[in-house]
Amino acid sequence: MTLTLIRTPRLSERTTLRLGGPALAEALVRDEAELDQLAEALPGLGGHPLALGAGSNLLATDGHHELVLVRPDNTAAPLVQAKAHGGVLVRAGAGLGLPRLLGFCQRLGLAGLEGLTGIPGRVGGAVAMNAGSYGVEVGQILTRVRLWTPADGLTWRAASDCGFGYRRFDPRLGEGFHLVWEAEFRLTQDEPQAVRARMESVYSKKKATQPVTARSAGCVFKNPAGLPAGMSAGKLLDDAGMRGKRLGGMAFSELHANFLVNLGGGTAAQALELMDFGRNAVRARFGVELETEVVVLK
Ligand SMILES: Cc1cc2nc3c(=O)[nH]c(=O)nc-3n(C[C@H](O)[C@H](O)[C@H](O)COP(=O)(O)OP(=O)(O)OC[C@H]3O[C@@H](n4cnc5c(N)ncnc54)[C@H](O)[C@@H]3O)c2cc1C
Repeated sequence: MTLTLIRTPRLSERTTLRLGGPALAEALVRDEAELDQLAEALPGLGGHPLALGAGSNLLATDGHHELVLVRPDNTAAPLVQAKAHGGVLVRAGAGLGLPRLLGFCQRLGLAGLEGLTGIPGRVGGAVAMNAGSYGVEVGQILTRVRLWTPADGLTWRAASDCGFGYRRFDPRLGEGFHLVWEAEFRLTQDEPQAVRARMESVYSKKKATQPVTARSAGCVFKNPAGLPAGMSAGKLLDDAGMRGKRLGGMAFSELHANFLVNLGGGTAAQALELMDFGRNAVRARFGVELETEVVVLK
């Protein structure tokens, strides 16, 4: 197939916050032949490449971005690779939506990913962010990851050779652009009904406490280390009076103070100003420094 190139794609149409100005170009990459075409095309497109998934953890500023968005579009159904040592190996393309992967696991009774229910990212973005919730982090269940660089093409890397931290993944390839192309997870066999029940339980808890259908990018700040039990960035923001705080079309959610939501017509400038406001309020009240979790594209 031929690599699909789109000129001046708007980040506001590619991020769940619905914010962000135009980039230089977007490349949709469906298969390995198109990765070769991408390596040839990149030098001529200018700017810097940026891997993009569902855009559900991105806050892009309103102006022009000297970026070429590289979107894996390998969305085929996951492959059950092998059943060994009590585990089932499942391979999924970076372009596959996490909700689809979870639906697949539910139907086959594959357990391990249930805590990630409700996260709207793609497999590549979930690996790149070491996404986690309800006791599950991608890095704990990933066995290996297939990475692509323009110079070296595709290579598999064991998860044990990568660095993982709180919303951080380091494939230890040095500086330069890399793309997560495929991921392999070790899951365990269970009853489909049991997997479904756990997914439903996670989703109903999230629905009650998070604005799951609003235009957001999930939590904007990380939970600071060393907080007493029951405390979180959301609770600090809430206690500092940020719940529902609004600026133009942007606001801290009424349901969860660590979610910034676009109520309609919001701008990235408003979002960043509100984040500063929240950070300052928490510092002044509790002496705690909040660190940004959402990836800000300046
Ligand atoms: C309602 C809502 C709930 C959320 N809940 C959670 C939660 O519970 N836990 C949690 O961890 N997150 C949560 N998030 C945030 C977000 O969904 C996750 O971080 C998700 O894993 C991001 O995936 P994405 O495909 O959208 O990545 P994007 O937002 O597109 O990209 C995020 C980062 O990953 C990089 N990236 C993306 N794809 C690739 C790739 N193929 N190769 C290399 N780098 C790549 C990008 O360059 C960027 O730096 C939530 C977001 C929303 C909107």
